[in-house]
Amino acid sequence: MIRKAGQSIENYRLLDTTLYVTLEPCPMCAGALLHSRVKRIVFGAPDLKAGAAGTVLNLFESQASYHYADVESGLLEAECRDQLQAFFKRRRKEIKQKKQEQRDTQMKGEE
Ligand SMILES: [Zn+2]
Repeated sequence: MIRKAGQSIENYRLLDTTLYVTLEPCPMCAGALLHSRVKRIVFGAPDLKAGAAGTVLNLFESQASYHYADVESGLLEAECRDQLQAFFKRRRKEIKQKKQEQRDTQMKGEE
């Protein structure tokens, strides 16, 4: 989800915009966001492992940043977390299914 936003952001300079995301941006996304000069970032759930908007580190307030952005967190946090969990659950299922399919076609090839 964040990557998708990042991709569209890379194509534009989003001056005076607010980005809403479910999960706190990681350092890579934060870099892209700063680069695109998004004014304000609002996220739902904190990323406890790689959050770069205040949880693990805060690139948005770093002295090294060329541009600054306001960050707001905790918006619909529970809903965001649910959505993310459902997303990764679905992904795992898809990957498992794909592997099974590959195994099936391989077996057919060996017959
Ligand atoms: Zn990221």
